[in-house]
Amino acid sequence: MTGTEIIQQRNRFMAFSFASADLLLEVQNDGNIGFALGAATPFTKSEASDLVGRQVADLVAVKDAKLMQHLIASISAGQRFGPMTVRSAGDTARDVMVSGCRFPGYEEVLCLTFSIEARSGPATVVAERDSHTGLIEAGDFEGVAKEALQSARKGSQDIKLSLFSFEGQEDFASRVDGDVAEEFLAQTGAILRSAAFADAAGRQGDGKYAILHANDVEVNTITDRLRQASIELDPKREGIRIEGGSIEIEPEMSAKDAAAALVFAVNQFASDDNGLLRAEGLTTSVETLMKETGARMSRFREAITQGKLSFLKQPIVDLQSKQTHHYEVLVRFEENKSPYEMIRFAEGTGLIMELDDIILKQAISYLSGSEADSNTSLAINVSGRSLSSPTFTSNLFRAMSGVTFARSKLMLEITESAIIEDLTQANQIIQKVRKLGHMVCLDDFGAGAASFQYLRALTVDFIKIDGAYVRTALKRGREATLLKGIASLARDLDTRTIAESIETKEQSAMLLDLGIDQGQGYLFGRPAPLNFSRQDGYAA
Ligand code: C2E
Ligand code: CA
Ligand code: CA
Repeated sequence: MTGTEIIQQRNRFMAFSFASADLLLEVQNDGNIGFALGAATPFTKSEASDLVGRQVADLVAVKDAKLMQHLIASISAGQRFGPMTVRSAGDTARDVMVSGCRFPGYEEVLCLTFSIEARSGPATVVAERDSHTGLIEAGDFEGVAKEALQSARKGSQDIKLSLFSFEGQEDFASRVDGDVAEEFLAQTGAILRSAAFADAAGRQGDGKYAILHANDVEVNTITDRLRQASIELDPKREGIRIEGGSIEIEPEMSAKDAAAALVFAVNQFASDDNGLLRAEGLTTSVETLMKETGARMSRFREAITQGKLSFLKQPIVDLQSKQTHHYEVLVRFEENKSPYEMIRFAEGTGLIMELDDIILKQAISYLSGSEADSNTSLAINVSGRSLSSPTFTSNLFRAMSGVTFARSKLMLEITESAIIEDLTQANQIIQKVRKLGHMVCLDDFGAGAASFQYLRALTVDFIKIDGAYVRTALKRGREATLLKGIASLARDLDTRTIAESIETKEQSAMLLDLGIDQGQGYLFGRPAPLNFSRQDGYAA
């Protein structure tokens, strides 16, 4: 190569480097920075070259120093990591994104790139993190996992999901100082993050963790590292037992479905307090879980897109006049079988919005057609999860924009409001729906712990009081008092009340007495067939 060619090559590679990063560092195995180039503002007031000779761990906030050490120790030749978010040290601390690799043939140093403007996009930047481990909290893991999967697919990188379960952590914590226990949590976070792909490392509960990582990272290497850290910190040198299980994410699944199946599996793992999943080893359990989830998702999708659904309608009546006010639409996957299990599953995997979308379109087409009795008004169930999805809501408004029948004939019942994270945003959607002229009902009021919080945040036309109150109202005075309070509170808020699961005349009379406006239940009518046209081609 001539001198000019060499310079040209150098410029070319520099340009590539700076395309995605502001600062380039080479770090030796002792943590010393050997080379630095670019904009160093988050780390030093002067030049990047000032960073040379300093420890890379000193550049980042104390909580991320361990992470840097573990990255140096764990990234081997040919491996890449990141981008992950770290906090810079010092007065001008800010979030920066770090990525890195050990280049084969140049593996004596770990090459790091920092991008200073933490791009606003990545879920890993905005994710809520556990303060002890620095790992992503369970609620935000799905978003991060989805992005990680998408970027893995784009880069044709095969990745795995690994779950870790710690045993004997309490004994460990009781025989070491608080500081040491904290140190172990910090190390746990650093080890898991340094092994993860695109920083997809989450805490799923006490001693339960999940990460996505490259196929060539062995789960045993990670468990060994974690176990080693616990032994080194333990005065008795016993450490804790760590079980790890891992499964390859099926490349045939779409990134969206894979993320949903994965999160469903991880949630099962997180809520499995009795260690049932570990009976046959975590790997086997995770494998089974993911496979079953994937198969169930396909079956569910098949059921909803191939016209296999049937629908029932159940009247909601005015308790005073007994006149039918509207009907609730209830779906059936199989005849005479409650859809409860299927619906819970769909909510767990996010498939619910596909179902909600189909039912919305069916209801609109039914109400637009001649089959519909001109007096029929329908309420369809919409999961809080769907309401939180921009895809669902934009479809919702698109479908609603073309409505030609009286808008009061189509109501929405918001079920599983517990899934709504951003109540302010949900309320905006609800108000937009109401402004169009559709009424909105908050379902299952009183079933969850936060019902009053929902009522406070969401302005609705109706609340539907959970059947549990109705069943006990006659037996327990306290329950009746509560119902009366809810009825009067709702009236003050200009919201009407519906009581569900009314089976006897006594219940109906008592609820009317307590000030409830409307009722639903076997007393007034069992769910009966509703003939939504079953034409094909309504798949989402
Ligand atoms: P939900 O919205 O609370 O619906 C009321 C449930 O109570 C229905 O069960 C209904 O059949 C049942 N029910 C009605 N009257 C009585 C009564 O007097 N006594 C008793 N014991 N039960 C009564 P179903 O149809 O099995 O639905 C279960 C849940 O599945 C629903 O609870 C709702 O959360 C969900 N679901 C049903 N259809 C849909 C749908 O189309 N979309 C969505 N997202 N969820 C649905
Ligand atoms: Ca309902
Ligand atoms: Ca309900």
